[in-house]
Amino acid sequence: MENLKKDGIIPSLAVIIVGDDPASKIYVKNKKLACEYCGIKSLEYALPAETSQEELLALIDKLNNDNSVSGILCQLPLPKGLDEEAVINAISPKKDVDAFHPVNVGKIMVGNFDFLPCTPAGVMELIALSGIEVKGKKCAVIGRSNIVGKPMSMLLLHQHGTVTICHSKTADLKAEVSQADIVVAAVGVPELITGDMIKEGAVVIDVGMNRLPDGKLTGDVEYESCVVRASAITPVPGGVGPMTIAMLMKNTVKAALLNKTK
Ligand code: NAP
Repeated sequence: MENLKKDGIIPSLAVIIVGDDPASKIYVKNKKLACEYCGIKSLEYALPAETSQEELLALIDKLNNDNSVSGILCQLPLPKGLDEEAVINAISPKKDVDAFHPVNVGKIMVGNFDFLPCTPAGVMELIALSGIEVKGKKCAVIGRSNIVGKPMSMLLLHQHGTVTICHSKTADLKAEVSQADIVVAAVGVPELITGDMIKEGAVVIDVGMNRLPDGKLTGDVEYESCVVRASAITPVPGGVGPMTIAMLMKNTVKAALLNKTK
């Protein structure tokens, strides 16, 4: 960060939040704290739920053209009536620190990218830092969303994994998961993956963040039954979540270099 400052580059992240979804507010607060910790300037735009599509797009246009803004993030989901796809498409690909814009999605597909989506990038970082090799391994990704499952599968493929993508129409989930050396669960169903489904010694990564009626946060993996069979496993909370935020900081610094923000 000091080197960037010497070059007159100041990384800054503009976070837009529309409405007052409690989970979104917590995510935005955590992103702001991470920016403060890393020395990244954070700009928060909290808009009321009644904000129109035109107003939201006008703000994005203003931030796209502001040379002091490195990265732009619009916290999803948006309130009903706002078009998420149009918002994703409106953010300049060079400031798209979430890597959701179709230009960035395409770049990931061909393996020549500026930004990686934060959650799958965080998972890959965890795998690498743990000394786990993906090459030649059977990988099962459960979930095929545009923001987690699909890019996750692509990143594992880039690292030469043999990837199976599972979803709600998969005929026999247990049969697919039980063959995998690396399991990544990104489903949104509490404790769907249980110990009897995984191979002995598998690496189990839990992306899920599910709020139970009692307020407790739980993942998509039943930790207690999987931890005794897995060779490595991530907890919820405290696993993939913090890595996602760390990757957002990394993308913001990249965006600052790309846009040379002052
Ligand atoms: P999403 O858009 O709802 O996608 C869920 C995926 O899971 C879909 O592809 C769906 O299949 C599949 N699925 C649903 N039920 C299934 C079942 N019973 N068996 C197999 N597959 C099933 O969710 P997302 O945005 O990818 O998020 C997934 C989870 O990750 C959520 O808990 C979310 O909160 C969490 N998350 C965490 C972070 C983090 O930083 N840790 C970041 C993002 C998301 P279909 O396509 O067939 O419907």
